[in-house]
Formats: sequence, C-alpha cells, structure tokens
Amino acid sequence: MTRSQELYVRACKVIPGGVNSPVRAFRAVGGQPVFVARAKGAHLWDADGKEYLDYVSSWGPCILGHAPDEVVHVVAETAKSGTTFGAPTEREIELAEAVRAAFPTCEKVRLVSSGTEATMSALRLARGFTGRAKIIKADGGYHGHADFLLTAAGSGAATLGIPGSAGVPAGTAQDTLTVPYNDLEGTRACFEQSRGQVAALIIEPVAGNMGVVLPRPGYLEGLRELCDEHGALLVFDEVITGFRVAYGGMQERCGVRPDLTCLGKILGGGLPLGAYGGRADVMDKVAPDGPVYQAGTLSGNPLAVAAGLKTLELLRKPGTYEKLERLAAHLGDGLVQATHHAGVPTYCARLGAMMTMFFTPAEVRDYQTAKTSDTKRYGQYFRGMLERGVYLAPSQFEACFVSLAHTDKMIDQTIAAAREVLAKLPR
Ligand code: PMP
Repeated sequence: MTRSQELYVRACKVIPGGVNSPVRAFRAVGGQPVFVARAKGAHLWDADGKEYLDYVSSWGPCILGHAPDEVVHVVAETAKSGTTFGAPTEREIELAEAVRAAFPTCEKVRLVSSGTEATMSALRLARGFTGRAKIIKADGGYHGHADFLLTAAGSGAATLGIPGSAGVPAGTAQDTLTVPYNDLEGTRACFEQSRGQVAALIIEPVAGNMGVVLPRPGYLEGLRELCDEHGALLVFDEVITGFRVAYGGMQERCGVRPDLTCLGKILGGGLPLGAYGGRADVMDKVAPDGPVYQAGTLSGNPLAVAAGLKTLELLRKPGTYEKLERLAAHLGDGLVQATHHAGVPTYCARLGAMMTMFFTPAEVRDYQTAKTSDTKRYGQYFRGMLERGVYLAPSQFEACFVSLAHTDKMIDQTIAAAREVLAKLPR
C-alpha cells in the first residue's frame, strides 16, 4: 500500500468518504485520492513524495501558483499581530476598495468566508431588496451548497426546481427556477411564467461547474435586458472568473453590468474568503444599515484579507493576464492538436486561463451538451495523466486552471504526456 492509500483508509473511518469536499474523492474518475503533503509553484507532492504538475490550483484560487513567497510572508507576519478580532480592521477597507477598483459595479462590498456564503447572502439580499421570492439559475450552474441552490432541473425549458440533494425540503427548492445555459428564449419564457415574482437571476458569466462553457455572443447582454424588463436583479457569480479571465472578471471583458457580484477563490489568495458587492442602493439593505441580516465570526479574517490584498497587488503587475492567456493558449492548442493526432473527438472550451476539454464531438453550449461527454474515457485520460505526474481535475465537468507559475516547458511536458495517454486510450 502507498502512504496515500493508507491515509485514505484511515480517513474513511472518521471523515465521510475520506474527504472534506466530495469531488476530492475521485469517484467520477475511479481510483483513490492522492493525499497532498505540500505544494510550491506549479507543483504538488503527495504523501509518497511523488511530484505532480498541478492544473487544479485548489479549484481556482492559486493563480500565482502555490505558496508564493510574498503571500506566505505577509500571512506569517500578519498572524503575529493576531489572527482574528471580531472587530473591524483597516485592511478590510483596503480590500473592499481594491474590489471596487477592479469591479466598478461593486460600489459597496461585504466580505464573507466562502463562495457559498457570498452567493447565499447576495440572493437573500436580492430577495429582501425586491420583496420577491423566486430565483432563476442555469441548469449545471453551481453557486455553492445553500439549500435553495441545490436544485436539479426537471424536464422542459424552464422548470421548477426539485431538490438536488437529500435534506433539501421541496418548499425550499420550489422557488428556484432552472433554465438551460445560453438559452435566452427559455429564460424569457421562465420570466414570463413567473411575472412579478423573480427576485434575481444568478449566472456564472463563464460557466465553470459543468466544465467550462462559454456564453454565446449576446447571451449576457440578453440576460441584463430580461432582468431590467422584469425588475429582477442580475447577479454575476464570479467566484471562479473574478480576477481570472481578467482582473475585473468577466464583467470587465463583456461590459455587462450586473447589480450584484459574488467573489471568492482568488480573492482570498488561497485562504478562506469570499465577498459580495454591488449597487450601493441594494447593498444599503444589508444589516446594520438595512433589514437583510448577514454576519460571520470570521468574516474579513485578517489572514485571509492580507493574503488577498497581496495576491491582488501581484496580479496588478503589467503583463499578468497576457502571460496567462499565452500559457493557457499554448496548453489548449497543444491538447487539441494531441487529440486530433490521436483521432479522439473532443471539444475544448477555453477563456483565458480556464478551460475544459470535453470528450465529445458535440459543441458544448449547456449542461445537456456537456453531458454528451464520454466520462469513462475522461477517467482513463485522467488516470493516465496522473500516472505521468499531471494532476487534472478529477471530473470531466470541472475546469483546468493555468497559473502564473506554469512555464512553457511544463506545458510542453503536459502536451507530450497527453499524446502518450491519448494514443493508448481504448477505441
Ligand atoms: N460559485 C461558483 C461559481 C463556484 O465555482 C463555487 C465553488 N466551486 C462556489 C460558488 C462556492 O464556493 P465555495 O466552495 O468557496 O463555497
């Protein structure tokens, strides 16, 4: 038995599934999870000392690579002055100001501790502000694990949410309406069916949780118009895309102005931090100024805020996003060529340093088409790459993230490994 296997057996005795977040268990790809001992730059080392080139990046946060010296230093220094006070600090203002500078639509910002808290709180606020109950989300969109967001789509273009997890009461799910991603007509029909009842539409402006799915031209603009027409708030969940597809997220790239924005991942520089922000008139409804309650013992935690501030400072260096684009294009193009060479049909969706290679010949535009992927084949590809020291997302329906610590040489090695693995895939 390897040390990872021993740890997994031990973990399973005290932790459900041996992991603290389900996708880590490798159930979608087969095999057993790798236990990580440490990480630096673009690399991870497992409990057996094996080295991996990492494209999971902790599911997005590690855009600078792992354990960047300057972030580690500031976290260590900050810890010496106390790790939590439950009282306001100057740096929280600095971080809120930095968010507003990056996302001008965030006139006011509230810091929380995770992406889940950000989306859950933003939607409570949208409901409080509009006095309406219903929320529209996209099928295959993930916005954290709040009860009312864990819904599955039924059949049809616009459907009532049905609980997507045990423990979610039907009453909680029924106010969540689900529409296919990229389907403006379905969304219009959904708004019309629930005229005057929709508080908000929440959307990942580039989907990342059904694998990467890009918004079609005009889609995000169309959602903005529908929300305006129906008096609903448009909420961009930029937990993944914020500071990744551009410093100012997808809203910087597409120019569409959401009413509220949710952030997490990169914002905390690898520590637990999230935020929601938006129009001042809406944010003013948050307690203590307004009637919408939301709180947190560790909200605006000094270590997470310090890590986030330093991370954003490093991302603001000129050339950051050009470099990420170049590296990710190198990887994306190389992988596409490798699949062509091997005669394996795939569809590669990429925007900046987030991408997914779907094992399907179909154009992936929503969850239905994403699900045409051959997940068994993805599992074989994943395990082949893992054996060769490349750590990809342990699920077809996740993104692959390139960081600033990756180099062209590393990417060439990855492409070479992919060529080997793809050539050996059973036909
Ligand atoms: N929104 C999106 C778009 C996400 O990808 C995630 C997490 N992957 C969340 C919200 C929830 O964030 P967290 O896991 O930090 O609660």
